[in-house]
Amino acid sequence: MPRAAQAPMPTLQLDVALQLLQQSGRSPPEGDPSSPFWLQSVIDALVEISSKDALTGLSNRRAFELALGRELDRVARSGEPALLLTLDIDHFKSVNDTHGHHVGDLVIQAVARALQDSVRPMDLVARVGGEEFSIILPNCPSSFGETVAERIRRRVEGMPVAIGPPGAPQTLSVTVSIGGAFAPQWVRSTPVLWIERTDQQLYRAKAHGRNLVRLEPTASPMVTPEERRMLFDQFQPQEHE
Ligand code: GH3
Ligand code: MG
Ligand code: MG
Repeated sequence: MPRAAQAPMPTLQLDVALQLLQQSGRSPPEGDPSSPFWLQSVIDALVEISSKDALTGLSNRRAFELALGRELDRVARSGEPALLLTLDIDHFKSVNDTHGHHVGDLVIQAVARALQDSVRPMDLVARVGGEEFSIILPNCPSSFGETVAERIRRRVEGMPVAIGPPGAPQTLSVTVSIGGAFAPQWVRSTPVLWIERTDQQLYRAKAHGRNLVRLEPTASPMVTPEERRMLFDQFQPQEHE
């Protein structure tokens, strides 16, 4: 019986890989191309560009969805609070229409930098659509959600975006609307449901006039500060002579 023809083994096309790196603005790794370390550097760089948004350098939608799934698992296991924010630039179409697509891109890049600069290193900022961003804030207490979202909103509002050519400087102001929701603690949820809840809040922020923060109301804590004091005061270590 004739042996079934084996499918040819796919090979890594290095020239295509290096082209991809070049298109994303990266130079090929230095070192000896025949060494396995060099090949590993090429693969690392490919993994890096597959998770980043080319215009802003932020995480892309794919990396964001993976991170969101991991965060939900962590919240369900540990019960730690986590906040998800969804942000959308207000009246962005008129920026493109008035100043052109190139200026629109400059605005998106400036907003991306402002978002990244206003959160902690552990928070993940992603560009999830044209002029839409999401931020995952792990371990963010519910009492702090409004403050952190407001800080981000104000940061963008107060940031002049340079749009003029070098000889004729000109700046533009933009605002963002922000919707947010906390992950349900101790309960399994899905990334899609969590995103939907923040989208509903973003919709409210837009409907109430834009340049606003709207967070889903959190359930009131079951234990008041007074009750907490009563619970824990009796466990204070006693001072012995
Ligand atoms: P709203 O306040 O309701 O959000 O109004 P808006 O004008 O921002 O409305 P919308 O979200 O519908 O507009 C988004 C626009 O963003 C439409 C699209 O042409 C533009 N856009 C999407 N991606 C890019 C991009 O990468 N660069 C630029 N310059 N524009 C983009
Ligand atoms: Mg939009
Ligand atoms: Mg918009």
